[in-house]
Amino acid sequence: MVVGYIKELFSSFQGEGPYAGRRQIFIRFAGCPLSCVYCDTAYARQPEPPYCTIVNKDRSVLQIKNPLDHSSVIELVGELLTPDTHSLCYTGGDPLLNAEFVKEIAREAKYLHYRNFIETSGYSAAAFESIVSEFDIASIDIKLRRHRAVKDEDYELLYYNELNSIRIAVDSGVETIVKVVVMRGTPEEEIEQISKALADLRVIFVLQPVTDINLKPDIDELFTLSEVAGSFLDDVMVLPQVHKCMGVL
Ligand code: SF4
Repeated sequence: MVVGYIKELFSSFQGEGPYAGRRQIFIRFAGCPLSCVYCDTAYARQPEPPYCTIVNKDRSVLQIKNPLDHSSVIELVGELLTPDTHSLCYTGGDPLLNAEFVKEIAREAKYLHYRNFIETSGYSAAAFESIVSEFDIASIDIKLRRHRAVKDEDYELLYYNELNSIRIAVDSGVETIVKVVVMRGTPEEEIEQISKALADLRVIFVLQPVTDINLKPDIDELFTLSEVAGSFLDDVMVLPQVHKCMGVL
């Protein structure tokens, strides 16, 4: 039996991209090998937290001991189900760090007719490839060098893996969302380079202005970056994290 570490389990609204506003059950896996400057889930980067926090339907909070096995996770998910649930969101941290565990949960969820949605940085194309068949929708990030997700000398390898993960998702018939967080001063050339690299793929491309008010791009920058992306890609959108406006997790 595969076991793994989950940081949080809760039901909420998706706050990013084209599925914003959809009710999901979030499975936040523990651990992430990256270190983005804008990270808002740094508390989930520890790979082996002793407890998983569960927010019940009545909003009461429960802590249960980690690690968990996949059947217990599916049982807990069932308890959070509401009539408006759109899908299960596998998030982090980065779920790829627990690929085998993720796959077991997602396979069982699929068998029970849940829709599976994964959010990942795509930092390991090999890990992503090993689980992609269980997913319906994938939201994959492309980190910019200025996000400092990895050391400068490791950036090209990260970028290569992200692009490969995106290609694997598209080739596997998974609905693919590509998200780039943009900060003030994001160079047009970088968005152009990424857009060109994705030009032959069917993806929804999301430019997400960073939430931190001190790093946020202004509206003229967003118009420009959106136009640059739209010169190469059919499906471009700009959207901030809307769950922050709603005051939910
Ligand atoms: S990939 Fe996500 S969880 Fe990991 S450091 Fe970046 S923003 Fe934080």
